[in-house]
Amino acid sequence: MVNRAEQQHLATIFKALAFSARKHRDQRRKDPAASPYINHPIALAEVLSCEADIIDVEIVCSALLHDTVEDTETTQAELAQIFGERISRIVMEVTDDFSQSKAKRKRLQIEHAAHISDQAKLVKLADKICNLRDVAECPPPEWSLQRRREYFDWAKQVIDQLRGIDKKLEAIFDEVYARRP
Ligand code: NDP
Ligand code: ZN
Repeated sequence: MVNRAEQQHLATIFKALAFSARKHRDQRRKDPAASPYINHPIALAEVLSCEADIIDVEIVCSALLHDTVEDTETTQAELAQIFGERISRIVMEVTDDFSQSKAKRKRLQIEHAAHISDQAKLVKLADKICNLRDVAECPPPEWSLQRRREYFDWAKQVIDQLRGIDKKLEAIFDEVYARRP
């Protein structure tokens, strides 16, 4: 049996999962099979909770929602209204500013990584772990070896700025990085 607080946490997690699934419903990943996009936020939540034992409800919900503002028409205000200020703030901390060029967004991720909250750092670590796994196992078909390598190196540059936050998650990142193509 779960107690009342645990019941509420589970309900919030399923609300975030259902919200994210609705928002990403027409999107696909870039792998050859064009997998449903929602597999990616679910993978982050699984890495955090099952592999790194991080089961904080705000972190897991932020992981499930982390690409909704970047990739769908979801707004910060909408997330704040439904999930509260703290979750919406974490999501915004891991959301790129799309008014900037792609090269600048890449650079800004490296520059900002050290200055985001601890909770956002954990979500960012899980995101990079999942994306490196995707690049290693099921990359976008048109990506050259050089591009896959560049993606690995850029991800490491981002993560190197935020180390010292969670040994287990960082070890998982290093294990995945060791599979650099
Ligand atoms: P993109 O931003 O175009 O794509 C990577 C993003 O796509 C990921 O961060 C992930 O974002 C999402 N994604 C969806 N499906 C997959 C999948 N199956 N595998 C991996 N990612 C997926 O790539 P980048 O601009 O980041 O390019 C990677 C590197 O390559 C950069 O360092 C860039 O400099 C370099 N580059 C090289 C080129 C070349 O031809 N050599 C051309 C362009 C860039 P999310 O977490 O949001 O889902
Ligand atoms: Zn992501």
